[in-house]
Amino acid sequence: MKSGQSQGSGSEAVDSATRLSYFAERADALTETIRHLVEVESPSDNKEAVDRLSALLAGRFEALGGHAKFHRADDFGNHLQVDFAGKRGEPVLLLGHMDTVYPLGTLATMPCRVADGRLWGPGALDMKSGISLMLHALEALQAWHGRGLPRPVTVLLVSDEEVGSDSSRRITEAVAKRSAAVLVLEPSYGPQGAVKTARKGVGEYQIKVTGKAAHAGLDFEKGQSAILELARQIERLSKLVDLKRGLTLNVGVIAGGTRTNVIPAEAVAALDVRIARMKDGAAIDRKLRSLKAFNRKCKLTIKGGINRPPMERTAGVADLYKKASVIAKQLGWKLQEAAVGGGSDGNFTAGLGIPTLDGLGGVGEGAHASHESIVLSALPRRASLLTQLIESA
Ligand SMILES: [Zn+2]
Repeated sequence: MKSGQSQGSGSEAVDSATRLSYFAERADALTETIRHLVEVESPSDNKEAVDRLSALLAGRFEALGGHAKFHRADDFGNHLQVDFAGKRGEPVLLLGHMDTVYPLGTLATMPCRVADGRLWGPGALDMKSGISLMLHALEALQAWHGRGLPRPVTVLLVSDEEVGSDSSRRITEAVAKRSAAVLVLEPSYGPQGAVKTARKGVGEYQIKVTGKAAHAGLDFEKGQSAILELARQIERLSKLVDLKRGLTLNVGVIAGGTRTNVIPAEAVAALDVRIARMKDGAAIDRKLRSLKAFNRKCKLTIKGGINRPPMERTAGVADLYKKASVIAKQLGWKLQEAAVGGGSDGNFTAGLGIPTLDGLGGVGEGAHASHESIVLSALPRRASLLTQLIESA
């Protein structure tokens, strides 16, 4: 990768002002694309619905000269990969997801609409505006560079990101491994549209305690309370939290027992673990797996693991952010960066050591909520930034 202000690949012909006015003139078309995508509902758990969206998107990307292929998935929509040839250099990966958290029919109560300088609707921010930015940025690059893109580009849109990416992770990692950089079009952070240069890793565990049932009145001393044991374990888990290291554990669900007059034979806790550093993942995993019962007559069974590594702000990530902030400055705007607690597929690619910049998508608020919306005026500069990053990342 080149550093500094070099734009590479002959893009000098198109200056920042030209890029901005190109997208400002086409603002309506970009808004229309977002509306179109929002109106094709695509909940993670509805294969048919997501397949409809991936087929539509394959057509849009192929119309821009890409070669589309589907990675078939049985339980989720087919993941879509589109490869674009380029004039020279290593490929860059544009990464995102088609699925949303909204069940089919949400549009009836949460219709797509434009008002107050915003576009509202399910998935508008997370992340149908990001997919639309990909489409329009690639179209612009085709126009500016004559026939063909300045460098090879792969678009990968998965269908199960909102439910953990189990089915797509290997595809994402394989495509990322042959890319020079990964640009993730997930929503930006905050009202200023900061990009995300660090994300926490995420783990999920279940701790099950097996004790011994007994009558709480007649045979109290013969019982071994699974609930008491679990309560002591939860207290112990809370001491593992280290906020300074960005390490948190949250017991979010507990269950156990049958009746008040029975010593409980079973109790279960489900916990969410977040790590900011890769090495903390193995350490916390070891600690959880080696938990010992306080009451030797109770048995612990621990299931789960770390399912997304943290996206750390490595030198490669920092370099990519620096490049993006220089471009943003030329576009007349100060691009900020943020570290966030939530994970994305960018965690996988950054975990492989590939320079990854996340949060390049829309600016807005209310992801996963009824007021989900994006700010329309932010789109031209986000699209301009994306074109320049594709050229020079
Ligand atoms: Zn998302």
